[in-house]
Parts: sequence; C-alpha cells; structure tokens
Amino acid sequence: MKSKARECLYCGLLHAQPTGAIADRHLEPFCAKCDSPLWSQSDGSTRTVDIAHQRETVSQALMKFHDALDRSWRQSHAENVRLIVGGGLIRDAVLGELHFMHSKATILDYLEENRGAVLVRIRKPLL
Ligand SMILES: [Zn+2]
Repeated sequence: MKSKARECLYCGLLHAQPTGAIADRHLEPFCAKCDSPLWSQSDGSTRTVDIAHQRETVSQALMKFHDALDRSWRQSHAENVRLIVGGGLIRDAVLGELHFMHSKATILDYLEENRGAVLVRIRKPLL
C-alpha cells in the first residue's frame, strides 16, 4: 500500500517520506521545520467504514478492519475511524482485536457507540 507525501498540518512543510504502518507508530518521525510529530497530526475528522454488510466472513471482516485502520493512518489525518460492525460475530471479533491493539498502544482508545458501530481513536486532537 502506497502513501503519498504529506504536508505538516502545523507549518505546511512537505515531507516525501511515506507514513509507516499504524503498528509502527512508535517510530514516528518529527517535522524537520517545526518538530511536530508527523504521522499523528489530526485534522479532527472521522472516517466511517462498513466492514460487515456484504456477507463477509469473520476473517474477511477482520482483513477489512485492519485495512481500514491502516489506510486511515497512512492516507489521511483522520482522528477517528467509525467501524460499522453489525451486531454479531464480527463485532465480537473486532472488539477482541481492538482490546489487543489498545493494550499495545497501536490505537489510543475505542468506544462502542451502539451495538452496530465502534468508534476507534487513532489520533489525538490538535492542541
Ligand atoms: Zn511542521
């Protein structure tokens, strides 16, 4: 998966280095000009991704889940990813993954908005 050059949200400097995987967030580099962390800058937006309503199996849905988080990390400045998980086995599997990712600090937090949707915080708000 490719990610493009991205601009520092604070100072506008363009960085050609692609963003790493969300699991590698501890390797995050800093802006050469203003010293802000480059990958975790948030524009406050929320991306919504439905991973459960095209007759996915649990393993297909989990692939979509990881892909949704990784794309949102690499290709946007989204603060949150809202996952539409349905109410069944997929939801349970996703909550298990999120519990694990939260324990590894790969994601910052997650919240069950209702039985069918989980909000995952991947970035902090801009200070
Ligand atoms: Zn900067």
